[in-house]
Amino acid sequence: MSMDSLIIVENLYRYYGELCAVHDLCFEVRRGEVVGFLGPNGAGKSTTMRIIGGNLAPSGGRVLINGIDILDQPMAAKAELGFLPETPPLYRDLTVDEYLAYCARINRIAAGQRRAAINLAKERCGLTAVGRRLIANLSKGYQQRVGIAQAIIHSPSVVLLDEPTVGLDPIQIREIRSLIREVANEHSVVLSTHILPEVQSVCDRVQIINRGRLVLNESIEQMREKLQATTLLVALRSPPPVSELESIDGVVSVEPVDDGRLRIGYEVGNDPADAIVEQAVANGWGLHELTPERMTLEQVFVEITTGDLHGHGESEGEAA
Ligand code: ATP
Repeated sequence: MSMDSLIIVENLYRYYGELCAVHDLCFEVRRGEVVGFLGPNGAGKSTTMRIIGGNLAPSGGRVLINGIDILDQPMAAKAELGFLPETPPLYRDLTVDEYLAYCARINRIAAGQRRAAINLAKERCGLTAVGRRLIANLSKGYQQRVGIAQAIIHSPSVVLLDEPTVGLDPIQIREIRSLIREVANEHSVVLSTHILPEVQSVCDRVQIINRGRLVLNESIEQMREKLQATTLLVALRSPPPVSELESIDGVVSVEPVDDGRLRIGYEVGNDPADAIVEQAVANGWGLHELTPERMTLEQVFVEITTGDLHGHGESEGEAA
C-alpha cells in the first residue's frame, strides 16, 4: 500500500440478510486523484460509499481514511472526510447560511474560524448570493451546491460524492461538473455516477463495480488506449474476395456486417485505411464509405457488466 493513499479499502464485505451487496472489495485512492465509481443499478455503489463515509458498518474488511481506521476512530476519520450522500442531508427550513453554520459546528470547526470557513465554502460553490435564501426555495442545482458545500466546509482531504448530478438539467450538470473539477484541485474525490461522459471529463481513474465486485480499475489513459479504434467499417460497391482484403498490411480480420458493409479489424498502431483507399481506387472496388469504429466507455461498461453475469454465478461460495 502506498503512503500517499488517502483511502484504502481492504477486503470489504456487506451483507443485507442473505444478499451480498459488496463482495471482497479492495482499492485505494491517492492524494489529488478523482475516481469515478460506476456500476449498474444495485451494483453496490451507494453501499460502498456509505461504508467509506462512516454511515454504514461493513460486514467485514477495513477502510482507512488518511491512515485512520473508520471503525476504530470514526471521529478522527470523519474529520478527513466530506460526504454528499445520494439523498443530501439538507434542512429545507434553514437558510443556506444557517445550515452551513450548523455544518461548521458539527464538523467541529473552531468558533473563531467558522465564519471564514462558511464564506469560503459558499464562494467555492457559487452560493455567496443566496446565503439568506431558504434551502427549500432553491432550485435542485443550487440545493446540490449546498450539499457539496457541506461536504467541503471543513477542508477534508477526501470528498465522496454519491451521484451528484442525478435529477439535474443539462446546464446544472455542467455547472456541478465544473464545481467537482474545482473541488478536485484541493481534495481527493470519489464520484459515483451513471453518466459515463461525466467520468471521461472529470475523472483520473475509472472503477466499475458489478454485483458487489470490482470488475475494472483503470486510469483514464489506460481506458483511452482501450477505446482507441481498431476496426473500420468499409462499404464497397464491388468488393474483392475477402482474402484480398486480408492480405493488406495491418488487417487482422474481415467480417461482413448485416447492412452489407465490412468490418475490418486491424493491429493497434497499424491503421490500414490509406492502403484500403489506394487499393480500392486502383482496383475499382467502388469505395463509398470508410469509418473508424470507436468503442465508447458505454460499450465497455455494457460489455463488462453484462459479460460478468456469466462469470460469477449466484451459487458461488460467498463466505466473508
Ligand atoms: P443505484 O445505482 O440504484 O443507487 P447502487 O449501486 O448504489 O445502486 P446499492 O444501493 O448499494 O446499489 O445496493 C446494492 C444492493 O443491496 C441492491 O441489491 C439493493 O437492493 C441492496 N440493498 C441496499 N440497501 C439495502 C437495505 N437497507 N436492505 C436490504 N437490501 C439493500
